[in-house]
Order: sequence, then C-alpha cells, then structure tokens
Amino acid sequence: MRISIMRERSPGEARVALTPANVSTLAGLGCQVCVETGAGDAAGFSNAAYREAGAEILETRTQLLERGEIVLCVDASREDSLADLQDGQVGIGLMDPLGHCERFTALAERGITTLALELVPRISRAQSMDALSSIATLAGYKAVLLAAAQAPRLFPMMMTAAGTLNPSRVFIMGAGVAGLQAAATAKRLGAVVEAYDVRPAAREQILSVGAKPVELDLDTSAAEGKGGYASEQDDAFLARQREQMGAVLAQQDVVITTAAIPGATAPVLITEDMVKGMKPGAVIVDLAAERGGNCALTRAGETLQAYGVTILGPANIAATLPHHASQMYGRNLENLLRLLLDDDGRLQLDFEDEIVAETVVTHAGEVRAARIRERLA
Ligand code: NAD
Repeated sequence: MRISIMRERSPGEARVALTPANVSTLAGLGCQVCVETGAGDAAGFSNAAYREAGAEILETRTQLLERGEIVLCVDASREDSLADLQDGQVGIGLMDPLGHCERFTALAERGITTLALELVPRISRAQSMDALSSIATLAGYKAVLLAAAQAPRLFPMMMTAAGTLNPSRVFIMGAGVAGLQAAATAKRLGAVVEAYDVRPAAREQILSVGAKPVELDLDTSAAEGKGGYASEQDDAFLARQREQMGAVLAQQDVVITTAAIPGATAPVLITEDMVKGMKPGAVIVDLAAERGGNCALTRAGETLQAYGVTILGPANIAATLPHHASQMYGRNLENLLRLLLDDDGRLQLDFEDEIVAETVVTHAGEVRAARIRERLA
C-alpha cells in the first residue's frame, strides 16, 4: 500500500499525521510511505528523519497525491482539504464530520473513501485509535498551563520568609478525558482542585486524580448516554445546574470548562451574571470555545477581560504541543491502519467490524457511516 503524508495547510496547524517512528513501523508492514517536503518541520520531525525511517520525500502536493493510495493528514475539515483526491483514493484525518456532514455527499459521488477519526467508536478495542482522547489529554494539560500563566496568583501553597501564600483554587467543569487531565495537572502544580461532571460515573474518576468532586442537588440518572458520553440535558436541567453553580464559581481562582456533547453545541454552564460574581483576577479557560463555549462570554481564539475575570477561548490547543500531539495522533493512525491492512499490506475494509463501519464515512460511491446518514436524511 502506498501511503502519502500531506503537509498541513490550515493556519496554525503545526502537527503532522505520522512521525518517522510510525513510518518505519508501516514500512515493516509492507507500506511505501511518501512525505510532502517539510510536513514534519513544525513538529520537530525533519525530512532527514523521515528518509532514515524509509520514507520518500516529495517536493509538491501534486506528486504526493498522485502517489498515495491512502492520503493521511491531521486537519481534513476544510472545504478544500480533500478536494484534490481522485476516484478510488482513501483520505484519513480529522474531518469534523458531525459539524460538516453535507460535504460527504459530494465526496461519495466522486468515489473517494473517507475515514473520519472523530467517528472511531468509544469501545475498549478502539482506545488506541482514539484521536479525540489524545487531543483532549493534551488540551486538558495545556489549559492549566495557560491559566497558570494568566493568573495573578501562584498555584501551590508557599511558605516563604515573606509569609505564607495560599494555594489557588481550581475548578474543572466536565470531568471527561480533558477535564481529568486538567485536574491531574493542576494538582501536580499544587492547587486545591475540585471538579464536577453531569455523569455520575465521573465521581470516582475525579477522586482517582486527587481532586474533590462537587455535588449538586440534581437528578443525573439519565445524564450518561451511548458510549459513556453525556447525553444532551434539557434547558430546565441546565438552568438548575447554573443556579447552584454560581456559589461554587464565586470561590474559584481558576475555572477550566470542558463540557461537551458530541455533535451538539456545548452547553452554557457559566452565564454573564455568574462571571460577574467571580473573584477579581479569576481566570476561565474554556476548552469548549470552538463548539460555542461553556461560558456565555467566550470568544473562540481570543482572550478577553470581563468584570475583572480573564476568559480564554483557545482554539486548536493540541497544535500548540505539536511534537507530542503528532506522536499521539501518529500512533492512533498507525493503530487504525494496522486494523485496515491485511497481511500483504493491502487495504481491506471489513464493514462487519464496528470500528470500520462507524469510521468510514464514504466508500464506493455511498455515504456509509450511520451517524452521518442520519444527519443527511
Ligand atoms: P466529551 O469531550 O464529549 O465531554 C467532556 C465532559 O463534559 C464529559 O465528561 C461530559 O460528561 C461532560 N459534560 C457534558 N455536559 C455537561 C454538563 N452540563 N455539566 C458538566 N459536565 C458536562 O467527553 P470525553 O471526555 O471525550 O469522554 C467522556 C467519557 O467517555 C468518559 O467517561 C471517558 O472515559 C469515556 N471515553 C471512553 C473511551 C473508550 O472507551 N474508547 C475513549 C474516550 C473516552
């Protein structure tokens, strides 16, 4: 199988789809890998390192696309990302399939096979292919560093000759993959950490990273939906949640929000009034910024001040850690390819396998993924 690795074109996208280590593994499985020149530069992987791992470096995107039977990239969500693929080629990447499902009809009609990593099912067997978890892990970690850099206070308690400094209080809203990593990171920096999630199962996980679960007087028995994700809460639930959350927020120095519902706009957990009630100098990092934001005042990609509170809405946060982000993404892709390639290194799409059935969006002229078909219907 001939595999091509594209240089990313989205502004600020510093990741690369495969690292040299993945290239040498795939070469061992009988694949020939081509890399667009400079594809790994921003992530710290040179052309020379790819060559040493067995890849061929190609100078132009046209050459790369002509060569690859499978074309890999990180960000394939742009309208033009897969525009140059030809009938029979396979494109794999992050495609924001639930946000942009309309584009798949045309891709199917052009005979292009697409696999969207966001659709990898949340089952144990697919954990090693789960790029969303990789991204969330990095985002949770980096959110804490961003908050620490903005905050006017230290995170740890310090006993100094100039007196004792109290630790920061950090509150994590949404204790999924990103939230738990944020809680663990804030804890490592010495903060006093509390966390809240709508899923009852999150309580144990919050305790396991050394944080304190915040309990609200709400019925959350129906909060966990398919695949361990949160189900969408109704307006009355969210209103009661906000009522009780105001008092918790008023005590915090740092708030990191990560609450999301797959394929839906993020729930607003922090209203403008709740921001008004927060301590002066408090910092909110809203990791749901790109999906509408958990704070009503968040603006994606911006840092702003409101009522003495700094609100950060970081966009594509994983791309700010491109080396490790590429290492994780590359390993996720490598594991997916291991599932898709047979012993002779040829692509075999077994639609009986739920990972294949859910992740392949278009194939042989059709939109196959049930989640996308439902949205297009
Ligand atoms: P996510 O990014 O969709 O959401 C982040 C968190 O926000 C979730 O924990 C969710 O419960 C929470 N949330 C949603 N609405 C909320 C609200 N109104 N108030 C407070 N919190 C709210 O989810 P995620 O972090 O990607 O994963 C969620 C779950 O899936 C976790 O239990 C995780 O362990 C599990 N998971 C399983 C696999 C696997 O088995 N392959 C992979 C990844 C995640």
